[in-house]
Amino acid sequence: MKNKSIYIVAATAVVLVLLALFLHTFAPSPLPMPKAYAGPIPSATPPKEVAVFALVAGVNHRVAAFGYRGGSLFERRDFSMAGTLVKHPKGDLLIDTGFGCHIDEQFRTLPFTVRVITFYSLWRPAADQLRDAGYDLKSLRAILLTHSHWDHVSGLPDFPGVPVWVTPQEHEFIRKSGDMDFCKLFTGIRYEEYGFEGGSYLGFPASHDVYGDGSIVVVPAFGHTPGSVITFVTLPNETRYAFVGDVVWQLEGITEREERPWITRRKADTDAEANRENLLRMIALKERLPEMIIVPAHDMRAFAEMPKL
Ligand SMILES: [Zn+2]
Ligand SMILES: [Zn+2]
Repeated sequence: MKNKSIYIVAATAVVLVLLALFLHTFAPSPLPMPKAYAGPIPSATPPKEVAVFALVAGVNHRVAAFGYRGGSLFERRDFSMAGTLVKHPKGDLLIDTGFGCHIDEQFRTLPFTVRVITFYSLWRPAADQLRDAGYDLKSLRAILLTHSHWDHVSGLPDFPGVPVWVTPQEHEFIRKSGDMDFCKLFTGIRYEEYGFEGGSYLGFPASHDVYGDGSIVVVPAFGHTPGSVITFVTLPNETRYAFVGDVVWQLEGITEREERPWITRRKADTDAEANRENLLRMIALKERLPEMIIVPAHDMRAFAEMPKL
């Protein structure tokens, strides 16, 4: 009897210690402040038509703690599930799609462990928002994916015939078809690979200047997935945007230098160390260019700073 009590006490102690350790992974733990980016600021000559428009298709109902270390477990926060229209006279781009028309059916294919912690609302898919605004979908040159996770590609089937631009690394990741990816459900998607033929750009080692005028420049930000990218957009009025995908989920990743908590880093990032390097690059860049608008794919506040159609 006495032995049994000792076991119960010991088991309880172990559980409490493990729980304390787990909760500690949500505590603030800011990354060391990197030196501000000191390299050249590349020039851009965007045509006067270049513009960006937010297309928030829905939200995931989360808490702040899900998104970054130091976030409250009790602060409800809706994570945007969105695309961004980038207008350019040589052909418009859609950066990610957010939730598409078929999110309900697609969602059922996600692993149980994801479904059980995910509560979402579909507002209006990007394709419908574009049509509502009288936008001709034929004006879209391509959909440029930050990466291929489910919440970024859900709307791909809503844009039949529009090519999907991916890095070769992300294309390979799509072919391997992980459990957080919907691409395996789609047929007839035309993927087009691009490379990084350009030199270093704002602290990133290489770049791809989409139309050669500096208005839309993609850089490799591999880590969250094997072929993730960041897209910089410069408007004619010199406003700069950085669409960072899921390098961070919430702006506090940059402003408070906080990574995702351990559990989400482990689950969501292919290479969390590499992702941290990209996060540090963005923090260093924000130090140099505080006016740059950084748009994490899931931060509603960032999308609120963008014009709507
Ligand atoms: Zn992701
Ligand atoms: Zn995401």
